[in-house]
Amino acid sequence: MARFILFILLLLLFYGILYYLIKDMAVRGKKWPKGTEAEELVQDPYCQTYIPKRTAVKKRVNGKTYHFCSKECLGKFREKRKADRA
Ligand SMILES: [Zn+2]
Repeated sequence: MARFILFILLLLLFYGILYYLIKDMAVRGKKWPKGTEAEELVQDPYCQTYIPKRTAVKKRVNGKTYHFCSKECLGKFREKRKADRA
């Protein structure tokens, strides 16, 4: 009997986790429209924040594309690069 109760508890736990995963996916789906680019996260090289590629500020430097959370970070990153070179 104890085994049966344990089994039911595990089942409930499994459904609980599944429910939260589905709920989380539904919330994300609402926030960002469907599309591979919308789901993809990129890191801001200046402030290390992860942002959706779709909303990121893109800048190509020496053939490499950088993604920034804001124009402020892009500006600061460029300033930092200049300072590093000097
Ligand atoms: Zn940033």
